[in-house]
Amino acid sequence: MSTVKRHKVILDEMEMPTRWYNILHDLPTPPPPYLHPGTGQPVGPEDLTPLFPMDLIAQEMATQQYVDIPPEVLDVYRLWRPSPLFRAHRLEAALKTPARIYYKYEGVSPAGSHKTNTSVPQAFYNAKAGITKLTTETGAGQWGTALAFACAQFGVECEVWQVRASYDGKPYRRIMIETFGGSIHPSPSELTAAGRAILAEHPDSPGSLGIAISEAVEVAAQSPETNYALGSVLNHVLMHQTIIGEEALRQFAKIDDTPDLVVGCTGGGSNFAGLAFPFLREKLAGRINPVLRGAEPASCPSLTQGVYAYDFGDTAGMTPLMKMHTLGHDFIPDPIHAGGLRYHGMSPLLSHVYELGLIEAVAHRQRECFAAGVLFARSEGIVPAPEATHALAEVVDEARRCAETGQEKAILVSLSGHGHLDLPAYGAYLDGSMSDHAYEESEIRDAVAEALTRLPSIPG
Ligand SMILES: *Cc1c(COP(=O)(O)O)cnc(C)c1O
Repeated sequence: MSTVKRHKVILDEMEMPTRWYNILHDLPTPPPPYLHPGTGQPVGPEDLTPLFPMDLIAQEMATQQYVDIPPEVLDVYRLWRPSPLFRAHRLEAALKTPARIYYKYEGVSPAGSHKTNTSVPQAFYNAKAGITKLTTETGAGQWGTALAFACAQFGVECEVWQVRASYDGKPYRRIMIETFGGSIHPSPSELTAAGRAILAEHPDSPGSLGIAISEAVEVAAQSPETNYALGSVLNHVLMHQTIIGEEALRQFAKIDDTPDLVVGCTGGGSNFAGLAFPFLREKLAGRINPVLRGAEPASCPSLTQGVYAYDFGDTAGMTPLMKMHTLGHDFIPDPIHAGGLRYHGMSPLLSHVYELGLIEAVAHRQRECFAAGVLFARSEGIVPAPEATHALAEVVDEARRCAETGQEKAILVSLSGHGHLDLPAYGAYLDGSMSDHAYEESEIRDAVAEALTRLPSIPG
């Protein structure tokens, strides 16, 4: 009998999937269309051309099951992909659980998170369309870093608005964005009408992803050579991320196992959907039957406490209306350390999949998340991104339930990034100065109820 245990499953780079998966093809009903805020009519491709190149607009509306990944994109992906799948033997031992815990690790990318899976194709398609500059928002800074890296690959300029709370609290992301050649401003800023309007009312505004999106969209809409890039939420972004799940399926096939539960943290929904959707395809086809579960912060609970309604994607109300789980477009969540999860809405596609009952959702509080992150770091040797600790908190809960019941579940979790540039957050947790959140749960409920009174009405 051998005592050698398998710790990771590595695919050769030539085994990397060459197509993205489009779940729209396999859903029983399509998600409701995006609506024009002026007319209430479904938006057409031409409504999106001020912001996005045609290739991405086509992907946003695509219904075919697969889209080929361009060779130029595969070539950049190969810098870090395929990403490893790990078996968390040491975490299992620490939790004394009979569960088999696996994690798909996206922290090996140049930006340290899954976001390069979509920033690279977005920069590529924009460069191909002759666009010379991309604007964007960033929360904790991962998306800005990912886009700055991708723009550098294709000779495109990159201008980033970063949520003020993160800009002040996480200077290393700003420096990394500048190192990759991007420029960066705190949001709200004096550079846009949207930013100036917020600052006039709230000079000390900590900012939000919704405000930063308004600023980046405003600048992109003003110039034909400038486009806007979004790091989550939209269909094409979720589709680009499916390379994670496609690789994981191949990795599980190599070890002849299959997950009973797939978990990911949900900010705008892209890393969870990217891992879960290929498994959902197999589930809908009746080949496997995993439970798929998103984990969100208790202080920004769009799936578990938001409503499913048409809302704007940004704070100033410049985007199309999207039917999604939302806390209200001007809801400003607590400045928790998981900046990438501080978004008022949820991907319309993932919201639709949730409404269909195909995924579950749970919410976790900040300190239990960091407790899970520290346990993971001490057992597996990787300091997880604060966002990813939400998924780990759910894994820890599930593994403990398995320990109580003796159930030998296989759990797969998306480890969406590392936390090397988020160490001050770990410092606050370790020295005891971190709070769960400034608001009590009842106050969050009241703030959500109040923001929901300002949901837009649909014209026409
Ligand atoms: C941005 C980010 C998230 C949240 O975004 P999703 O679109 O929900 O994936 C989660 N984890 C990390 C590491 C991130 O950078």
